[in-house]
Amino acid sequence: MDESDALRRDAGDPGHRAAFLIPPAHGGRYPDSAYLVGNSLGLQPRSVRAELLAHMDDWATLGVEGWTEAHAPWESLPQRLAGPSARLVGARPEETVVMNTLTVNLHLLMISFYRPAGTRTRIVIEDAAFPSDSYAVRSQAVLHGLDPDTTVVRLRPRDGEDVLRTEDVIAAIDDRVALVLLAGVHYLTGTVADIPAITAAGHAAGAVVGWDLAHAAGNVELRLHDWDVDFAAWCNYKFLNSGPGSPGSAFVHARHLGDPSIARLDGWWGTEAATRFDMAPVSRPPATADAWQVSTPQILALAPMAGALALFDEAGMPVLRARSRRLTGYLLDAVDAIVPAGRVEVLTPRDPERRGAQLSLRLPGQDVGELAKRLRFGHGVLTDSRRPDVIRLAPVPLYSSYHDCWRAATALAAVL
Ligand SMILES: *Cc1c(COP(=O)(O)O)cnc(C)c1O
Repeated sequence: MDESDALRRDAGDPGHRAAFLIPPAHGGRYPDSAYLVGNSLGLQPRSVRAELLAHMDDWATLGVEGWTEAHAPWESLPQRLAGPSARLVGARPEETVVMNTLTVNLHLLMISFYRPAGTRTRIVIEDAAFPSDSYAVRSQAVLHGLDPDTTVVRLRPRDGEDVLRTEDVIAAIDDRVALVLLAGVHYLTGTVADIPAITAAGHAAGAVVGWDLAHAAGNVELRLHDWDVDFAAWCNYKFLNSGPGSPGSAFVHARHLGDPSIARLDGWWGTEAATRFDMAPVSRPPATADAWQVSTPQILALAPMAGALALFDEAGMPVLRARSRRLTGYLLDAVDAIVPAGRVEVLTPRDPERRGAQLSLRLPGQDVGELAKRLRFGHGVLTDSRRPDVIRLAPVPLYSSYHDCWRAATALAAVL
Protein backbone atom coordinates (compact mmCIF):
# COMPACT_ATOMS: atom_id res chain seq x y z
CA MET A 1 0.00 0.00 0.00
CA ASP A 2 2.57 2.59 -1.09
CA GLU A 3 2.91 5.03 -3.97
CA SER A 4 4.87 2.68 -6.21
CA ASP A 5 2.19 0.04 -5.76
CA ALA A 6 -0.49 2.55 -6.86
CA LEU A 7 1.57 3.55 -9.90
CA ARG A 8 2.12 -0.10 -10.81
CA ARG A 9 -1.62 -0.72 -10.67
CA ASP A 10 -2.22 2.30 -12.93
CA ALA A 11 0.24 0.99 -15.50
CA GLY A 12 -1.64 -2.32 -15.66
CA ASP A 13 -5.18 -0.94 -15.39
CA PRO A 14 -5.25 2.61 -16.82
CA GLY A 15 -8.92 2.84 -17.78
CA HIS A 16 -9.68 5.63 -20.30
CA ARG A 17 -7.87 8.41 -18.43
CA ALA A 18 -6.02 9.52 -21.57
CA ALA A 19 -9.36 10.49 -23.15
CA PHE A 20 -10.00 13.17 -20.50
CA LEU A 21 -8.71 16.59 -19.50
CA ILE A 22 -7.64 16.36 -15.84
CA PRO A 23 -7.82 19.73 -14.00
CA PRO A 24 -4.46 21.03 -12.75
CA ALA A 25 -3.87 20.89 -8.99
CA HIS A 26 -4.08 24.11 -6.93
CA GLY A 27 -1.68 22.86 -4.30
CA GLY A 28 0.41 19.87 -3.34
CA ARG A 29 3.33 18.30 -5.18
CA TYR A 30 1.65 16.82 -8.25
CA PRO A 31 0.72 18.78 -11.41
CA ASP A 32 -2.76 17.23 -11.80
CA SER A 33 -5.49 17.22 -9.22
CA ALA A 34 -6.69 13.95 -7.75
CA TYR A 35 -10.25 14.53 -8.99
CA LEU A 36 -12.62 12.49 -6.83
CA VAL A 37 -15.75 14.54 -7.50
CA GLY A 38 -16.78 13.10 -10.86
CA ASN A 39 -20.07 12.15 -9.18
CA SER A 40 -20.84 15.89 -9.03
CA LEU A 41 -19.40 17.01 -12.36
CA GLY A 42 -17.75 14.58 -14.72
CA LEU A 43 -14.56 15.70 -16.43
CA GLN A 44 -14.35 16.95 -20.01
CA PRO A 45 -13.61 14.28 -22.62
CA ARG A 46 -10.92 15.55 -25.00
CA SER A 47 -13.13 14.85 -28.01
CA VAL A 48 -16.07 17.10 -27.16
CA ARG A 49 -14.62 20.56 -27.75
CA ALA A 50 -14.27 19.96 -31.51
CA GLU A 51 -17.85 18.69 -31.69
CA LEU A 52 -19.18 21.76 -29.90
CA LEU A 53 -17.20 24.05 -32.22
CA ALA A 54 -18.48 22.15 -35.27
CA HIS A 55 -22.04 23.06 -34.23
CA MET A 56 -20.95 26.68 -33.78
CA ASP A 57 -19.53 26.59 -37.32
CA ASP A 58 -22.77 25.09 -38.66
CA TRP A 59 -24.73 27.86 -36.98
CA ALA A 60 -22.36 30.46 -38.50
CA THR A 61 -22.49 29.07 -42.03
CA LEU A 62 -26.01 27.58 -42.26
CA GLY A 63 -28.15 29.58 -39.85
CA VAL A 64 -31.59 28.05 -39.60
CA GLU A 65 -30.78 25.45 -42.28
CA GLY A 66 -28.60 23.76 -39.64
CA TRP A 67 -31.74 22.07 -38.32
CA THR A 68 -31.59 19.76 -41.33
CA GLU A 69 -28.15 20.38 -42.89
CA ALA A 70 -25.68 20.59 -39.98
CA HIS A 71 -22.93 17.92 -39.99
CA ALA A 72 -25.10 16.27 -37.33
CA PRO A 73 -28.56 17.68 -38.17
CA TRP A 74 -30.01 19.47 -35.15
CA GLU A 75 -33.61 18.33 -35.52
CA SER A 76 -32.73 14.68 -34.90
CA LEU A 77 -29.82 15.19 -32.49
CA PRO A 78 -31.78 14.02 -29.40
CA GLN A 79 -32.99 10.92 -31.27
CA ARG A 80 -29.43 9.99 -32.21
CA LEU A 81 -28.54 10.08 -28.51
CA ALA A 82 -31.38 7.72 -27.57
CA GLY A 83 -29.43 4.59 -28.58
CA PRO A 84 -26.33 5.30 -26.46
CA SER A 85 -28.54 6.45 -23.56
CA ALA A 86 -30.64 3.30 -23.79
CA ARG A 87 -27.58 1.02 -23.79
CA LEU A 88 -26.33 2.65 -20.57
CA VAL A 89 -29.47 1.77 -18.64
CA GLY A 90 -30.59 -1.47 -20.32
CA ALA A 91 -33.48 0.04 -22.25
CA ARG A 92 -34.76 -0.01 -25.81
CA PRO A 93 -34.00 3.17 -27.80
CA GLU A 94 -37.73 3.98 -28.06
CA GLU A 95 -37.96 3.87 -24.25
CA THR A 96 -35.46 6.72 -23.76
CA VAL A 97 -35.42 10.39 -24.61
CA VAL A 98 -32.82 13.11 -24.01
CA MET A 99 -34.44 16.38 -22.97
CA ASN A 100 -34.60 19.17 -20.37
CA THR A 101 -32.86 18.50 -17.07
CA LEU A 102 -33.32 15.91 -14.35
CA THR A 103 -35.77 17.55 -11.95
CA VAL A 104 -37.86 18.92 -14.80
CA ASN A 105 -38.05 15.42 -16.27
CA LEU A 106 -39.06 13.95 -12.90
CA HIS A 107 -41.93 16.45 -12.87
CA LEU A 108 -42.99 15.61 -16.44
CA LEU A 109 -42.93 11.91 -15.61
CA MET A 110 -44.81 12.37 -12.34
CA ILE A 111 -47.50 14.31 -14.20
CA SER A 112 -48.01 11.09 -16.16
CA PHE A 113 -47.32 8.44 -13.52
CA TYR A 114 -48.34 9.91 -10.18
CA ARG A 115 -52.10 9.61 -10.36
CA PRO A 116 -53.41 9.57 -6.77
CA ALA A 117 -56.94 8.19 -6.48
CA GLY A 118 -59.18 7.35 -3.52
CA THR A 119 -57.04 6.24 -0.57
CA ARG A 120 -54.05 5.47 -2.80
CA THR A 121 -52.23 8.80 -2.69
CA ARG A 122 -48.87 8.32 -0.98
CA ILE A 123 -45.42 8.88 -2.44
CA VAL A 124 -42.59 6.89 -0.84
CA ILE A 125 -39.08 8.41 -0.91
CA GLU A 126 -35.97 8.18 1.28
CA ASP A 127 -35.69 10.59 4.17
CA ALA A 128 -32.16 11.30 2.91
CA ALA A 129 -33.40 11.90 -0.65
CA PHE A 130 -31.59 14.53 -2.70
CA PRO A 131 -33.34 17.83 -1.85
CA SER A 132 -34.51 18.49 -5.40
CA ASP A 133 -36.41 15.19 -5.37
CA SER A 134 -37.95 15.99 -1.98
CA TYR A 135 -39.17 19.37 -3.20
CA ALA A 136 -40.44 17.87 -6.45
CA VAL A 137 -42.59 15.17 -4.82
CA ARG A 138 -44.01 17.60 -2.25
CA SER A 139 -45.05 19.99 -5.00
CA GLN A 140 -46.65 17.13 -6.96
CA ALA A 141 -48.76 16.30 -3.91
CA VAL A 142 -49.82 19.95 -3.64
CA LEU A 143 -50.67 19.97 -7.36
CA HIS A 144 -53.24 17.24 -6.62
CA GLY A 145 -54.69 19.16 -3.67
CA LEU A 146 -53.03 16.83 -1.12
CA ASP A 147 -51.17 17.66 2.10
CA PRO A 148 -47.46 17.05 1.37
CA ASP A 149 -46.69 16.32 5.03
CA THR A 150 -48.96 13.27 5.09
CA THR A 151 -48.74 12.31 1.40
CA VAL A 152 -44.96 12.01 1.23
CA VAL A 153 -43.64 9.09 3.28
CA ARG A 154 -39.93 9.45 4.09
CA LEU A 155 -38.11 6.19 4.86
CA ARG A 156 -35.32 6.24 7.45
CA PRO A 157 -32.63 3.64 8.10
CA ARG A 158 -32.95 1.70 11.37
CA ASP A 159 -31.49 3.26 14.50
CA GLY A 160 -27.73 3.05 14.40
CA GLU A 161 -27.67 2.25 10.65
CA ASP A 162 -26.80 4.55 7.74
CA VAL A 163 -28.36 2.68 4.85
CA LEU A 164 -31.97 1.69 4.21
CA ARG A 165 -32.57 -2.05 4.16
CA THR A 166 -34.38 -3.42 1.10
CA GLU A 167 -36.80 -5.37 3.30
CA ASP A 168 -37.74 -2.18 5.15
CA VAL A 169 -38.44 -0.38 1.86
CA ILE A 170 -40.60 -3.27 0.70
CA ALA A 171 -42.47 -3.40 4.02
CA ALA A 172 -43.36 0.30 3.65
CA ILE A 173 -45.17 -0.18 0.32
CA ASP A 174 -48.88 -0.90 0.84
CA ASP A 175 -52.18 -0.16 -0.88
CA ARG A 176 -52.03 3.50 0.18
CA VAL A 177 -48.92 4.05 -1.96
CA ALA A 178 -49.40 5.49 -5.45
CA LEU A 179 -45.74 6.08 -6.29
CA VAL A 180 -42.35 4.85 -5.09
CA LEU A 181 -39.54 7.20 -6.18
CA LEU A 182 -36.08 6.21 -4.99
CA ALA A 183 -32.45 6.67 -5.98
CA GLY A 184 -30.76 3.84 -7.90
CA VAL A 185 -27.48 4.81 -6.21
CA HIS A 186 -27.80 7.02 -3.15
CA TYR A 187 -25.94 10.32 -3.53
CA LEU A 188 -24.80 10.55 0.09
CA THR A 189 -23.74 6.99 0.88
CA GLY A 190 -23.10 5.53 -2.60
CA THR A 191 -25.40 2.58 -1.82
CA VAL A 192 -26.83 0.64 -4.77
CA ALA A 193 -30.56 -0.03 -4.41
CA ASP A 194 -32.05 -3.42 -5.25
CA ILE A 195 -34.02 -1.96 -8.14
CA PRO A 196 -35.57 -5.24 -9.41
CA ALA A 197 -36.73 -6.38 -5.95
CA ILE A 198 -38.20 -3.01 -4.95
CA THR A 199 -39.82 -2.50 -8.35
CA ALA A 200 -41.44 -5.94 -8.19
CA ALA A 201 -42.65 -5.34 -4.61
CA GLY A 202 -44.08 -1.95 -5.60
CA HIS A 203 -45.96 -3.49 -8.51
CA ALA A 204 -47.27 -6.32 -6.29
CA ALA A 205 -48.73 -3.64 -4.00
CA GLY A 206 -50.30 -1.82 -6.97
CA ALA A 207 -47.90 1.15 -6.96
CA VAL A 208 -46.01 2.79 -9.80
CA VAL A 209 -42.22 2.63 -9.34
CA GLY A 210 -39.87 5.30 -10.70
CA TRP A 211 -36.13 5.69 -10.20
CA ASP A 212 -33.81 8.67 -9.99
CA LEU A 213 -30.61 7.41 -11.62
CA ALA A 214 -28.51 10.58 -11.25
CA HIS A 215 -25.76 8.63 -9.45
CA ALA A 216 -26.48 5.27 -11.08
CA ALA A 217 -26.23 5.92 -14.83
CA GLY A 218 -22.69 5.26 -16.00
CA ASN A 219 -21.79 3.98 -12.53
CA VAL A 220 -23.49 0.58 -12.20
CA GLU A 221 -25.05 -1.85 -14.66
CA LEU A 222 -28.77 -1.33 -15.15
CA ARG A 223 -31.50 -3.32 -16.94
CA LEU A 224 -34.48 -1.01 -16.70
CA HIS A 225 -36.54 -2.80 -19.34
CA ASP A 226 -36.08 -6.30 -17.90
CA TRP A 227 -36.59 -5.01 -14.36
CA ASP A 228 -39.97 -3.65 -15.47
CA VAL A 229 -39.25 -0.16 -14.11
CA ASP A 230 -42.16 2.19 -14.92
CA PHE A 231 -40.09 5.33 -15.46
CA ALA A 232 -36.68 6.76 -14.64
CA ALA A 233 -34.72 9.97 -15.10
CA TRP A 234 -31.07 10.88 -14.81
CA CYS A 235 -28.67 13.69 -15.59
CA ASN A 236 -25.78 13.42 -18.03
CA TYR A 237 -23.30 15.68 -16.24
CA LYS A 238 -22.18 13.41 -13.36
CA PHE A 239 -20.74 10.00 -14.27
CA LEU A 240 -21.68 10.62 -17.93
CA ASN A 241 -19.34 13.60 -18.46
CA SER A 242 -21.52 15.62 -20.86
CA GLY A 243 -20.79 19.00 -19.29
CA PRO A 244 -22.23 21.35 -16.66
CA GLY A 245 -26.02 21.47 -16.83
CA SER A 246 -26.14 19.20 -19.85
CA PRO A 247 -29.61 17.92 -20.79
CA GLY A 248 -31.08 14.99 -18.88
CA SER A 249 -32.43 11.63 -20.00
CA ALA A 250 -35.72 9.92 -19.28
CA PHE A 251 -36.97 6.34 -19.56
CA VAL A 252 -40.57 5.19 -19.97
CA HIS A 253 -41.19 1.44 -20.08
CA ALA A 254 -42.37 0.05 -23.44
CA ARG A 255 -45.64 -1.16 -21.91
CA HIS A 256 -46.63 2.49 -21.26
CA LEU A 257 -45.67 3.78 -24.72
CA GLY A 258 -48.59 4.74 -26.91
CA ASP A 259 -51.06 4.22 -24.03
CA PRO A 260 -53.77 6.82 -24.69
CA SER A 261 -54.90 6.77 -21.03
CA ILE A 262 -51.60 8.32 -19.88
CA ALA A 263 -51.71 12.12 -19.57
CA ARG A 264 -48.72 14.30 -20.42
CA LEU A 265 -47.81 17.95 -20.62
CA ASP A 266 -47.54 18.34 -24.38
CA GLY A 267 -45.52 20.64 -26.61
CA TRP A 268 -44.64 20.70 -30.29
CA TRP A 269 -41.53 18.50 -29.94
CA GLY A 270 -43.71 15.73 -28.54
CA THR A 271 -45.71 15.38 -31.75
CA GLU A 272 -44.69 12.94 -34.48
CA ALA A 273 -41.61 14.57 -36.12
CA ALA A 274 -43.12 14.29 -39.62
CA THR A 275 -46.18 16.32 -38.52
CA ARG A 276 -44.34 18.97 -36.49
CA PHE A 277 -44.54 21.60 -39.21
CA ASP A 278 -48.15 20.86 -40.14
CA MET A 279 -48.93 23.50 -37.51
CA ALA A 280 -51.95 21.38 -36.53
CA PRO A 281 -54.08 22.27 -33.49
CA VAL A 282 -53.84 18.79 -31.92
CA SER A 283 -50.60 16.89 -31.15
CA ARG A 284 -50.05 13.43 -32.64
CA PRO A 285 -47.50 11.90 -30.25
CA PRO A 286 -45.45 8.89 -31.38
CA ALA A 287 -45.57 5.64 -29.41
CA THR A 288 -42.07 6.31 -28.04
CA ALA A 289 -40.59 8.22 -25.12
CA ASP A 290 -40.20 11.15 -27.56
CA ALA A 291 -43.87 11.88 -26.80
CA TRP A 292 -42.66 13.41 -23.49
CA GLN A 293 -40.51 15.99 -25.28
CA VAL A 294 -41.95 19.47 -24.96
CA SER A 295 -39.62 22.08 -26.44
CA THR A 296 -36.91 22.66 -28.99
CA PRO A 297 -33.75 20.73 -28.01
CA GLN A 298 -30.78 22.75 -26.64
CA ILE A 299 -28.34 21.93 -29.41
CA LEU A 300 -25.21 23.57 -28.00
CA ALA A 301 -25.76 21.87 -24.64
CA LEU A 302 -26.38 18.54 -26.37
CA ALA A 303 -23.25 18.80 -28.53
CA PRO A 304 -20.83 17.14 -26.06
CA MET A 305 -23.12 14.19 -25.38
CA ALA A 306 -22.42 12.04 -28.43
CA GLY A 307 -18.68 11.97 -27.71
CA ALA A 308 -19.14 11.60 -23.96
CA LEU A 309 -21.55 8.68 -24.26
CA ALA A 310 -19.49 7.01 -27.01
CA LEU A 311 -16.79 6.35 -24.40
CA PHE A 312 -19.23 4.08 -22.56
CA ASP A 313 -19.96 2.07 -25.70
CA GLU A 314 -16.24 1.85 -26.36
CA ALA A 315 -15.38 0.68 -22.85
CA GLY A 316 -18.53 -1.37 -22.14
CA MET A 317 -20.35 -1.06 -18.81
CA PRO A 318 -19.39 -4.55 -17.54
CA VAL A 319 -15.70 -3.74 -18.05
CA LEU A 320 -16.10 -0.32 -16.42
CA ARG A 321 -18.00 -1.74 -13.49
CA ALA A 322 -15.28 -4.34 -12.95
CA ARG A 323 -12.61 -1.61 -12.93
CA SER A 324 -14.81 0.42 -10.61
CA ARG A 325 -14.96 -2.46 -8.10
CA ARG A 326 -11.16 -2.70 -8.14
CA LEU A 327 -10.68 1.06 -7.80
CA THR A 328 -13.19 1.70 -4.99
CA GLY A 329 -11.98 -1.48 -3.25
CA TYR A 330 -8.41 -0.15 -3.44
CA LEU A 331 -9.52 3.23 -2.05
CA LEU A 332 -11.25 1.48 0.86
CA ASP A 333 -8.12 -0.59 1.55
CA ALA A 334 -5.99 2.58 1.38
CA VAL A 335 -8.26 4.44 3.82
CA ASP A 336 -8.25 1.44 6.18
CA ALA A 337 -4.45 1.14 5.98
CA ILE A 338 -3.35 4.79 5.93
CA VAL A 339 -5.93 6.88 7.84
CA PRO A 340 -5.53 6.46 11.62
CA ALA A 341 -8.16 4.04 12.95
CA GLY A 342 -11.07 5.70 14.72
CA ARG A 343 -10.78 9.03 12.84
CA VAL A 344 -13.15 8.09 10.03
CA GLU A 345 -16.22 5.93 9.75
CA VAL A 346 -17.09 4.45 6.34
CA LEU A 347 -20.81 5.01 5.59
CA THR A 348 -20.73 3.21 2.27
CA PRO A 349 -21.46 -0.55 2.34
CA ARG A 350 -18.30 -2.69 2.45
CA ASP A 351 -19.91 -5.26 0.13
CA PRO A 352 -18.75 -4.22 -3.38
CA GLU A 353 -22.09 -5.35 -4.88
CA ARG A 354 -23.96 -2.88 -2.68
CA ARG A 355 -21.93 0.20 -3.58
CA GLY A 356 -21.05 2.19 -6.68
CA ALA A 357 -17.94 4.23 -7.45
CA GLN A 358 -17.95 6.06 -4.14
CA LEU A 359 -16.79 6.03 -0.54
CA SER A 360 -18.50 8.30 1.94
CA LEU A 361 -16.59 8.96 5.12
CA ARG A 362 -18.02 10.34 8.32
CA LEU A 363 -15.55 12.46 10.27
CA PRO A 364 -17.18 13.15 13.61
CA GLY A 365 -16.33 16.53 15.12
CA GLN A 366 -14.49 17.77 12.00
CA ASP A 367 -15.36 20.88 9.99
CA VAL A 368 -15.58 18.98 6.71
CA GLY A 369 -15.85 22.14 4.58
CA GLU A 370 -12.54 23.34 5.98
CA LEU A 371 -11.06 19.87 5.61
CA ALA A 372 -12.04 19.74 1.92
CA LYS A 373 -10.30 23.09 1.39
CA ARG A 374 -7.11 21.81 3.00
CA LEU A 375 -7.26 18.67 0.87
CA ARG A 376 -7.66 20.80 -2.25
CA PHE A 377 -5.18 23.61 -1.63
CA GLY A 378 -2.67 21.68 0.45
CA HIS A 379 -2.70 18.42 -1.50
CA GLY A 380 -4.47 18.93 -4.84
CA VAL A 381 -7.16 16.41 -3.83
CA LEU A 382 -10.71 17.37 -4.85
CA THR A 383 -13.41 15.93 -2.61
CA ASP A 384 -16.97 16.84 -1.79
CA SER A 385 -18.08 17.74 1.73
CA ARG A 386 -21.64 17.48 3.02
CA ARG A 387 -22.53 19.07 6.33
CA PRO A 388 -22.37 18.17 9.10
CA ASP A 389 -19.59 15.58 8.86
CA VAL A 390 -19.42 13.67 5.57
CA ILE A 391 -16.74 13.68 2.87
CA ARG A 392 -17.45 11.86 -0.38
CA LEU A 393 -14.77 10.40 -2.64
CA ALA A 394 -15.76 9.07 -6.05
CA PRO A 395 -13.14 7.12 -8.04
CA VAL A 396 -14.70 7.28 -11.51
CA PRO A 397 -14.10 4.08 -13.50
CA LEU A 398 -13.39 5.85 -16.81
CA TYR A 399 -10.65 8.20 -15.65
CA SER A 400 -9.74 8.00 -11.96
CA SER A 401 -6.44 6.36 -11.07
CA TYR A 402 -5.15 4.24 -8.21
CA HIS A 403 -2.68 7.05 -7.62
CA ASP A 404 -5.63 9.46 -7.11
CA CYS A 405 -6.98 7.08 -4.45
CA TRP A 406 -3.60 6.72 -2.77
CA ARG A 407 -3.20 10.53 -2.75
CA ALA A 408 -6.66 10.93 -1.20
CA ALA A 409 -5.90 8.48 1.62
CA THR A 410 -2.46 9.96 2.39
CA ALA A 411 -3.78 13.54 2.21
CA LEU A 412 -6.65 12.66 4.57
CA ALA A 413 -4.21 11.13 7.03
CA ALA A 414 -2.10 14.30 6.81
CA VAL A 415 -4.93 16.79 7.41
CA LEU A 416 -6.61 14.89 10.25
C1 LIG B 1 -27.63 15.62 -9.08
C2 LIG B 1 -29.00 15.24 -8.67
C3 LIG B 1 -30.10 16.02 -9.04
C4 LIG B 1 -29.90 17.31 -9.80
O1 LIG B 1 -31.03 17.62 -10.55
P1 LIG B 1 -30.98 18.74 -11.70
O2 LIG B 1 -32.40 18.90 -12.00
O3 LIG B 1 -30.15 18.21 -12.81
O4 LIG B 1 -30.36 19.97 -11.10
C5 LIG B 1 -31.36 15.58 -8.67
N1 LIG B 1 -31.54 14.43 -7.97
C6 LIG B 1 -30.49 13.66 -7.59
C7 LIG B 1 -30.71 12.41 -6.83
C8 LIG B 1 -29.19 14.05 -7.93
O5 LIG B 1 -28.16 13.32 -7.53
